[in-house]
Amino acid sequence: MNKNRCLFCDIVSNKMNADIVYRSDSVIAFKDIHPKAPVHILIIPKEHIPTLNDLKPNHQNLIGEIFLAAQQIAKEFGLAENGYRTVFNCNRDAGQEVYHIHLHLLGGRQFHWPPG
Ligand code: AMP
Ligand code: ZN
Repeated sequence: MNKNRCLFCDIVSNKMNADIVYRSDSVIAFKDIHPKAPVHILIIPKEHIPTLNDLKPNHQNLIGEIFLAAQQIAKEFGLAENGYRTVFNCNRDAGQEVYHIHLHLLGGRQFHWPPG
């Protein structure tokens, strides 16, 4: 793959397949290809933002929309009552692998705290 190509931008533009579960004008969500829990969904902005460090004040509504999408998807997948975890990994120490911000929505099992 081209060094400058972004996997998640390719999913946004339909160049790459994904199991999409939510779509709005500015956000999409799809199933993680290597799920770490019975439900593992990634919620991403359509706009390419590499890391949380790159957020600007004008992204405030977008981030709010991502969390409201997580709330809605959690409800649709039956996770709301038992609970679920949401995670943004930022940069190397957090284990970020794809440099297009994504909110992990994980549910369907018991999670540990603190995380590893
Ligand atoms: P992170 O480590 O926070 O950057 O998470 C990246 C996530 O993207 C991992 O959980 C991967 O399993 C997931 N992932 C990578 N490629 C794809 C893909 N083509 N479709 C869906 N999920 C993917
Ligand atoms: Zn991207």
